[in-house]
Amino acid sequence: MLGLMMEMPLLVSSLIRHAAANHAEAEIVSRTVEGPIHRYTYADAHLRAQQMANALTGLGIKPGDRIGTIAWNGYRHYEVWFGTSGMGAVCHTMNPRLHPDQMAYLLNHAEDRYVFVDLTFLPLIEQVAPHVPGLEGVVVMTDRAHMPDTTLANAFCYEELLDGQSESFDWPVFDENTASSLCYTSGTTGHPKGVLYSHRATILHSYAIAMPSMLCLSDAETVLPVVPMFHVNAWGIPYAATMTGAKQVMPGPRLDGESLWALMDAEGVTFSAGVPTIWHGLLGYMGENNKRLDTMQRMIVGGSAAPRSMIELLANEYGIEARHGWGMTEMSPVGAVNTLKPHMRDWPADDRMNVLAKQGRPPFGVEMMIEGDDGTAQPHDGTAHGELKVRGPWVCRAYFGDEDSGAHRDGWFGTGDVATVDADGYMQIVDRKKDMIKSGGEWISSIDLEDFAMSHPDVAQAAVIGVAHPKWDERPLLLVTAAAGRTPDREDVLEFLAAKVAKWWVPDHVLVVDAFPIGGTGKVLKTELRETYSGYTLPELR
Ligand code: AMP
Repeated sequence: MLGLMMEMPLLVSSLIRHAAANHAEAEIVSRTVEGPIHRYTYADAHLRAQQMANALTGLGIKPGDRIGTIAWNGYRHYEVWFGTSGMGAVCHTMNPRLHPDQMAYLLNHAEDRYVFVDLTFLPLIEQVAPHVPGLEGVVVMTDRAHMPDTTLANAFCYEELLDGQSESFDWPVFDENTASSLCYTSGTTGHPKGVLYSHRATILHSYAIAMPSMLCLSDAETVLPVVPMFHVNAWGIPYAATMTGAKQVMPGPRLDGESLWALMDAEGVTFSAGVPTIWHGLLGYMGENNKRLDTMQRMIVGGSAAPRSMIELLANEYGIEARHGWGMTEMSPVGAVNTLKPHMRDWPADDRMNVLAKQGRPPFGVEMMIEGDDGTAQPHDGTAHGELKVRGPWVCRAYFGDEDSGAHRDGWFGTGDVATVDADGYMQIVDRKKDMIKSGGEWISSIDLEDFAMSHPDVAQAAVIGVAHPKWDERPLLLVTAAAGRTPDREDVLEFLAAKVAKWWVPDHVLVVDAFPIGGTGKVLKTELRETYSGYTLPELR
């Protein structure tokens, strides 16, 4: 027997409709690329999102079409999100830190019809657009006064595109499983893989992360997502904040400690979220300048392992609760957030910190399984480890245009992280199966670097491993063996790589070794190399 409840699909447009109707006065404050602070309300944002949907319709955009964005966190980006998804099209956010060749790959793979870019990224898209034949136009996210000259064939000014559009758009009602946004991850080997989020997953994820033991969002909060809107939709925070009517503060392009502190202080921010590297910058600035953040209550530290010392410093020195979080692009992204259970609150400080340093517990909606090397489920005893597998309504079931990925099997998604889960349900990452390096919250592909290094005439074999770095968490170390009769020169190899990859991918150091440990299948034993160099200190840090 079916229940007799209304069948109303869960749609992204309902978030902004709700906020405009119930939190009309709550603010969205943005630091703009042009410089000044912009502020308006959910009511204003809803009107402009409707103008955006009308403008897109005028450009011939149909449901299912992909619209790219290369932009910082800001109000115009927010309008593109809601205008695009609300009308049934797909908002494809792109990471501008990628190499231009990778950007071209993403735009082509996603078949973006238009792309919206912040002023910062105009030179980038000018370089990339000629390699994207299907791209019909570029919208520069600024007003006429700031619109620069451009070599682009079909460039639009954002404010002119919106100008004169009706502020009313009848948000269509459609299947909640329709795609709403698209985000590529390079967190697995090979080409970047597209994760195609649905309206339903986005709404359920928003409910889940707003819960008190997760991000604890409500209309009493002032929320500043430092995590970019091109990183898994800023961890879903702009959606969840809109759901709850929280005031939102968007930091734009200035993510250094001083700029973040100034914005947080001026706007009375109570909640923020970002990767450890960002918090290093903020805490460094606050420590050196004797600054505090008295309104700040909670900060999520995630994307890379939160150092225990950072959690302690935030709590003990600044009275800010640092919640360690773990997630993935494939999980919308939140998979776990760390808060203490009631019976732990009176534990000695050290015992509490032992728990808080773990990656956290899953919300309702995420199930975890630890798969041992023999393929069996391991006990949740805090010791047995294996690949962490997950499932849930906001976990992707296949990649976009690559439906046969080996990561999805038997209804579970293999995260590539190696973890334990204890009897209380706290998950801890202990290793990584995927051959990647995460530097400052961004992926660097060891395999790509090795391929490029091996194309250098003086190099025979190459292996790239991540070594610890206090600011970036990990940095790449390149190990090479010499080609017959050649002597690789460190600077020369690094220059060679710099011409092929983004600047921040270039390894911090090169070591020439006599030979690599080789496994049974003839491959370099990276696990052994990682062990050998686990305590390695980069020369710049000595
Ligand atoms: P991404 O898809 O770029 O968000 O990357 C997801 C991956 O980042 C995870 O599979 C982990 O390898 C890593 N990661 C995310 N959060 C954490 C964390 N708190 N601790 C350790 N690794 C993390």
